[in-house]
Amino acid sequence: MDILSLFFPPRCPYCGDAIPNGETECSECRSKFPDEGYMRIIPSGNLCISPFVYDSDKRYALLRYKFRNDKYCSKSLAKQMYRVICQFYADERIEVVCAVPMMKKQKRQRGFNQSQVLAEQIARMMDIPCEELLIKTKINLVQHELDREQRKTNVIGVYSLSNVQMIKHKRILVVDDICTTGNTLAECCRVLLKGGAEEVFCVAAANSSHFNSV
Ligand SMILES: [Zn+2]
Repeated sequence: MDILSLFFPPRCPYCGDAIPNGETECSECRSKFPDEGYMRIIPSGNLCISPFVYDSDKRYALLRYKFRNDKYCSKSLAKQMYRVICQFYADERIEVVCAVPMMKKQKRQRGFNQSQVLAEQIARMMDIPCEELLIKTKINLVQHELDREQRKTNVIGVYSLSNVQMIKHKRILVVDDICTTGNTLAECCRVLLKGGAEEVFCVAAANSSHFNSV
C-alpha cells in the first residue's frame, strides 16, 4: 500500500464509500451493474454502445461530477466499457482508439480530458494503440446548455483531423464519456470517415435514455 492511500483511501466512484486498494468500485455497486450493454444509433448513422444509461439517476449525475475531478473513477468505467466492447464489437477488427478531443485551453483548465483518460485505458485493454486522431479547432457553446436543435449545428466544423496517416483505411473506435444527443460523436465520425477511415464505432460510459435506443 502506498502512503497516499493511507490518507486518501480509494473511493467507489458510484457511492463514495472507501474501497480496498486495488479495487475499482465497491462490491455492492458492482452487484448492481447491468449485465447487458446499451446500443443506439447516433445521428451520423454510426453505433454508440455503453455499459450504463445516463438518466436523472443521482448516482450517475454524481459519477459524472466526480469523474471530471477524479481520474481514479475512470478505471471502473473503462473496465465496464471494455466489457461492452467485447460484447458488441468483438468481430469488428478495430485497429485504433481515439477520444473526443477538447480544446487545449479547456484541457488546461480541467487538468485532463476525461474521454482521453478512458480511451487510453480501453486501448491498453484492447492491446491496440490510442492516438490523437482529431483536434478541436473551434470553440463552441457548451452542448448541455443548448436545446436539441441547437446541439445539432453547434458541433459542425469544430473538429479537424490531426493524423491523416493513422486514419486512412482504418477501423476506429471513438471514446466519449457521456453520449446525450449523440451529435458530438456523430460529428467525430463524419470527420474521420471523410478523412478516409474505413469504419468508425463509438463507445461512451453512458448513453442518455432520452434519445433513440435500439
Ligand atoms: Zn459503491
